[in-house]
Amino acid sequence: MKILVINSGSSSIKYQLFNMENEEVLAKGLVERIGIDGSCLEQETNEGEVIEIETEIENHSVGMELVIDSLSDDENGVITEVKEIAAVGHRVVQGGDSFSESVVIDDDVKDEIERWASLAPLHNPPNLMGIEVCEKLMPHASQVAVFDTAFHQTMPEEAYMYALPYELYEKYGIRRYGFHGTSHKFVAESVAEELGEDLEDLKVITCHLGNGASVTAVNDGKSHDTSMGLTPLEGLIMGTRCGDIDPAAVPFIMEKEDLSPEEVDSLMNKESGLLGLSGVSSDMRDIGEAANNGNERAELALKAFNYRVKKYIGSYAATMNGVDAIVFTAGIGENAIGLREAVCEELDYLGVKIDKEKNDVRGEIAEISADDSEVKVFVIPTNEELVIAQDTEKLVG
Ligand code: ADP
Repeated sequence: MKILVINSGSSSIKYQLFNMENEEVLAKGLVERIGIDGSCLEQETNEGEVIEIETEIENHSVGMELVIDSLSDDENGVITEVKEIAAVGHRVVQGGDSFSESVVIDDDVKDEIERWASLAPLHNPPNLMGIEVCEKLMPHASQVAVFDTAFHQTMPEEAYMYALPYELYEKYGIRRYGFHGTSHKFVAESVAEELGEDLEDLKVITCHLGNGASVTAVNDGKSHDTSMGLTPLEGLIMGTRCGDIDPAAVPFIMEKEDLSPEEVDSLMNKESGLLGLSGVSSDMRDIGEAANNGNERAELALKAFNYRVKKYIGSYAATMNGVDAIVFTAGIGENAIGLREAVCEELDYLGVKIDKEKNDVRGEIAEISADDSEVKVFVIPTNEELVIAQDTEKLVG
C-alpha cells in the first residue's frame, strides 16, 4: 500500500510518499511560497532523482496538483498513476479534546478541525485546506487526520488546568493541550524497544528540541504532562518563541509599547526565544558559533535554553516520582552534543551519568549514558511522517 503524508502549512506543503510494504520513503518534497512570489516545488526520490519546478503556485490546489504530477512524472516520478496512492495521512495541529487518536476524515471530523481553529488560527485552517484539496484531487483515496495534541489527551486535569476562573475553561476550552504528540509518542515507544521493556513499565522524559521545542513526561505509556500549553508558546525557550513568562508581563508590554493583542502575540511567537535573547539568530547552530566567538548574548541564550530544559526534566522527575530514561530528539536534540552534555550535567542526584564518548553522536539512535548510569539517556531521531503513515495504514488497511 502506498500512503502519502501531508503537512500543509499556510504557504507550504511538505510531503512524503511511503511504500508501506517495507516502510520505505519513495519520494519526499516541499512546495514553498504558495501565493507568494518565487513559489517552487522540490522533490527527491529514494533513487536520488530530483525535480525542481519554479512556477507561479497561487494556491494549495495548484500546489497539490504539482505534487501529484511530480510523483507520477514519466522520467523522475515514483508512481505511474495517482490511483496508486491508497490513502493520505494529514498532520493536524490542534484537535482539542475531541480527538485522543488518529481518525478517518469525514464531514464531522472536518467540522471539529474547523471548530478548534480558533485556538490554532495559523495551523488548523491550512491543515484543513490540505485535506479538502486532497479530497478533490484524490477522491479514490481515504484521508486520515493525525493530531499533534492527541497523545497528550491522557494528561490528568491537575496537569492540564490553568488556575483561571473555571468558566473560561467551560466557555472557551482554555486549558493546556500540548503539541508534538506524534514525536513524543514515537521516541518514547522507541526507547522502550531499545531497552527491551514495555513502555507501560517505564517513566520516560522525552525532549523534542527543534525550532519548536517541548518536553513530555511519559508515565505508564501515557503522556502525563508536557511543556506546551493552550498553544505551542508555553514551556521551553524556542527559536523565536519565549516559552514560560510571567503572564502579567503581557499587559505591561502592551501598555508600554502600545501594542495590540496581535502585535504582542507576534512579539512573543516570532521575535523572542533564542532570537530575542541573542539578537543573533533563531538557529541553534548560529547561536553556538556566536557563543564560541565570545558573543555574550548568544552565550546567555544558550545557557538559558539549557537551563529551561534541565528545569523541566527535574520537575517531571518530581511529578512522576522518578525517571528511568531521558530521550533527546529533533534538530537540536539529535545533533547538539555539547548541549546534551550541559543539560545532563549535575543530574547525578537523579542517577543520570553521561558518557562523553558515547554522546559524540549525531542523528542516529544511540545510548549516551554511562554503563553505570541508573537513568538511561538516549538520542532517538524522530520520524513523525512514518508515524502518520503507520496510523493511516492501521485505520484504512
Ligand atoms: P523544526 O521544529 O523546524 O522541525 P528541526 O527539528 O529541524 O526544527 O530543528 C532545527 C534546529 O536544529 C535549529 O535550531 C538548528 O540549528 C538545530 N540543529 C540542526 N543541526 C544542528 C547541529 N549540528 N548542532 C546544533 N544544532 C543543530
